[in-house]
Amino acid sequence: MGRQFTKRVLVAGGCGFIGSHLCERLIESGADVLCVDNFFTGSRGNVEQLFSNPRFELLRHDVTIPLYVEVDKIFNLACPASPVHYQFDPVKTTRTSVQGAINMLGLAKRLKVSVLQASTSEVYGDPSVHPQTEDYWGNVNPIGPRSCYDEGKRCAEALFFDYRRQHQVAIKVARIFNTYGPRTHPSDGRVVSSFIVQALLNADITVFGDGSQTRSFCYVSDTVDALLRLMDSPFEVTGPLNVGNPNEISMRDLAELIIDLTGSRSRIVYRPLPQDDPCRRRPDISRARDQLGWSPKVGLKEGLSKTISHFSELLGRSDFQTEL
Ligand code: NAD
Ligand code: UDP
Ligand code: UDP
Repeated sequence: MGRQFTKRVLVAGGCGFIGSHLCERLIESGADVLCVDNFFTGSRGNVEQLFSNPRFELLRHDVTIPLYVEVDKIFNLACPASPVHYQFDPVKTTRTSVQGAINMLGLAKRLKVSVLQASTSEVYGDPSVHPQTEDYWGNVNPIGPRSCYDEGKRCAEALFFDYRRQHQVAIKVARIFNTYGPRTHPSDGRVVSSFIVQALLNADITVFGDGSQTRSFCYVSDTVDALLRLMDSPFEVTGPLNVGNPNEISMRDLAELIIDLTGSRSRIVYRPLPQDDPCRRRPDISRARDQLGWSPKVGLKEGLSKTISHFSELLGRSDFQTEL
């Protein structure tokens, strides 16, 4: 009976950082959630607070394998996102992006439902246009250590638009810029969580290169808000839409800000810059503003403070050191 009134939403990659926050928001909004994940970088722990809710269902499944379920909307977030994780098994990363997209699109085509792809600012590579607009085609090294992720995501975008042109699938493509917040994996090497954990432990803060490279960090609740709005937008709104916070900062300044906010005794140390590390990144979000009425609400200091509280709590847990 409930099926007539309640939307059942598939979140592929729902046990990951962004996916777990998305599952929570969907459950809060009254939807049924089918969370699908192979637990590569995500964990059951990220969604355990939802286990007692009868509207939440968790399925261990790899999106490179076909999936036959009945749902009303599909969010495809399944893909490792941090360089350390996506370079661990690069061939698998490409398969996840490409075959995973094909399966999610095939599912959407059969069910005639909307499907949203979590794409990335990495499709712009090391950008020669700044800030990045959606019209910019990017500057990606096709054969470097980041290519499995960047080219996999670019191919997935191509597939989404081909399924739209060929099969009229209702597609939504969000190009997500660096997102941070509670539940990033503490040892996946992403800069915000790495710096926070280092600062809280009064350990050296490892800035790569000279720290002049920039990123623009968006707090996870803002990113999730954009994904929800994009999913519920009219058929004509396909994206790609940049989703991020245009507030740009260098990695050196980020390290200093985190030292300041944590009152840490850490010192900054410099390590070699990884190959193909983009020099700068900032989204132009005019399109998301116009088409979704969305803009980020949480400033960097506020978001970092919330994230610092989360990691301080984790550090207080006896089992945390073994996770690092
Ligand atoms: P994450 O690594 O925390 O989450 C990814 C989830 O996908 C994990 O739970 C993982 O176990 C699951 N997964 C991986 N391969 C899978 C497979 N083959 N089958 C089923 N599940 C699989 O990453 P995140 O930061 O939450 O990112 C979520 C999505 O958003 C990713 O697609 C990522 O590319 C995209 N994105 C994230 C950011 C960011 O800054 N966090 C930026 C741009 C794009
Ligand atoms: N697919 C799926 N679930 C579905 C429908 C399709 O996983 O409910 C997979 C299917 O196995 C196929 C892919 O999605 O490999 C693409 O489906 P499509 O219908 O576009 O292609 P076809 O089946 O015609 O190759
Ligand atoms: N970075 C750093 N120290 C670290 C981890 C990352 O200086 O311990 C830098 C990294 O070189 C990059 C930026 O921080 O310039 C963002 O890195 P992250 O891996 O978080 O995301 P991405 O490179 O995918 O944007």
